[in-house]
Amino acid sequence: MAAGARAPLAPRAPRTPRTPLPPLPPLPPLPLALAALALLALPVTAGSPPGPEEQLAAAAPRWGWQNVSCPACRVLFGALDLALQLEPNVARVGRVASRLCQELRLARPPVCRQAVQLFQGDVVAAWARSVLRPPEACGLLLGPRCGHWDILGAWNLSLPAAPKPPVRPPSPPPPGAPTARILFLTDLHWDRQYAPGSAVACPDPLCCRGAPREGPGAAGFWGSYSKCDLPLHTIDSLLAQLPNGTGNGTGNGTGNGTGGFAAAYWTGDIPAHDVWQQSRGDQLRALRTVTALLRARLGGLRVFPAVGNHEATPVNAFPPPYVRGNRSAAWLYDAMAEAWQPWLPPAALRTLRAGGFYTAQVWPGLRLVSLNMNFCSQANFWLLINATDPAGQLQWLMGVLADAERDGEKVHIIGHIPPAHCLHSWSWNYYRIISRFEGTVAAQFFGHTHLDEFELFYDEETLTRPVSIAFIAPSVTTYINLNPGYRVYEVAGSYPGSSHAVLDHETFILNLTEANAAAPGTAPRWRRLYGAREAYGLPAAFPADWDRLVRRMQDDEPLFQLFWFHLHKGHPPREPCGGPCKAALLCALRSGRAADPALCRPLRPALPFPRIQELWHQRRLC
Ligand SMILES: [Zn+2]
Ligand SMILES: [Zn+2]
Repeated sequence: MAAGARAPLAPRAPRTPRTPLPPLPPLPPLPLALAALALLALPVTAGSPPGPEEQLAAAAPRWGWQNVSCPACRVLFGALDLALQLEPNVARVGRVASRLCQELRLARPPVCRQAVQLFQGDVVAAWARSVLRPPEACGLLLGPRCGHWDILGAWNLSLPAAPKPPVRPPSPPPPGAPTARILFLTDLHWDRQYAPGSAVACPDPLCCRGAPREGPGAAGFWGSYSKCDLPLHTIDSLLAQLPNGTGNGTGNGTGNGTGGFAAAYWTGDIPAHDVWQQSRGDQLRALRTVTALLRARLGGLRVFPAVGNHEATPVNAFPPPYVRGNRSAAWLYDAMAEAWQPWLPPAALRTLRAGGFYTAQVWPGLRLVSLNMNFCSQANFWLLINATDPAGQLQWLMGVLADAERDGEKVHIIGHIPPAHCLHSWSWNYYRIISRFEGTVAAQFFGHTHLDEFELFYDEETLTRPVSIAFIAPSVTTYINLNPGYRVYEVAGSYPGSSHAVLDHETFILNLTEANAAAPGTAPRWRRLYGAREAYGLPAAFPADWDRLVRRMQDDEPLFQLFWFHLHKGHPPREPCGGPCKAALLCALRSGRAADPALCRPLRPALPFPRIQELWHQRRLC
């Protein structure tokens, strides 16, 4: 990064807080900021759909950075900086933070205590090393209206010297060419404490746990439409009915008629959303239990995992490799390398241990790159120290892609957080890399939003020619108010000259209403929700076909409603998607990089871009 090359600070915003926050001066600022940071990790349910869920939303903690005014944020961080220099006493700061969290009613007292305790050490350590000033920190947390995020705005990686090969538009495989099916699992979110019969509504960020209750509002056996994650038996039932499965299921009734899978991609978020109380031991138990289950149920099928933001504790806390010792992420990456050793070659395990990312060959001619997207994440507070290409991951990616281009290999990229959700500079550099290597990157696969969507990439010169697409597959978990589900991609198989491109995809769900109503002991029926080309009438599944789909949805309301239904895995919110919602969603589908109004311009949205960004922000729950 260009250290010391920061632009002059933005003019200071007025100091009078406009929102009715409690008067700040009497409050100890470091603890308050810590309480706020700890609670940042708890999901905010403001964007959750209404219905029976209204009660849930009403009971949930309504807090997020968007509730903090810009001047208040600056006062907080200014004082925090000072306090850190004067008194870096973690335990004392934590005690006061916990009290403040309770007094401000940010969450229930036990949740406050546990969340603050979990976050205090890492947050104070990250801050103590941070070179940021309050306008920058608040610019990062609250957006450009609250300051300039100079460090993030500045960096630009140089592309490799080799000239870009001539672009060849994708074409369907020749008749009779082999295809391969890839199982895609993401966001399993296993809740070890899920209790059928417990309350689906509760004041905490995660429910369906604890003592059973009588009457309506009780958690279902297979899962619940609520702020709940999944019991292990639901994940097991998914795996057991797959065609490759070694369980009793044979794939009957799944629609998986064409036989087994060639590989599985698994893009993270293994533990539940009880982020205020997770220990490293809890996270490792989730990692090992679910990995063992996959190995048992999928037999010899090779699984290529990626690291999610929920794997760590505190959630989202992924220190880059220059953080050493007990605060480093070694406890997690080492355990991953051990658990996934049967699936990955030694060279991949080495980079996995160092930074949580790797490359490996899927089959001859096809290479996989698994990215650690926590290094692009706005929620990863360790990046406050330095967010310029953390762990050198993008530089490494360019090297892998350049080698693949030279060797005539195609590449599938997998990761957890989708690229447009990333920090601005990271996502723009990534976009440029994808555009440069459009002939090599055959497909991109992500998760994290729990919804069924995608992000398109266009050529950088004109922003009109679609060059790539990042598929975002729906979650296995129900969180929030969804059916459980998974995805299968059909790709061009292994043969000389194969594009290894995605030819189609299918989505499978478990209808919870149906499954929970069935007699106890009945095996749940996972069924095919839809196939992409058939449902949307796509001639092929290349980027240009998805680009045209977005344009068609603009005028074809039934087509858009079908997409909306699939977006939520067959369980859409009661509130329909009106004009502003539709504009924001279509714009998101065209946006492969963060905060670029130019990408939405061809849709002529009736809303100003900042309003669209606000709607995106409300929708993000994960
Ligand atoms: Zn998730
Ligand atoms: Zn996630």
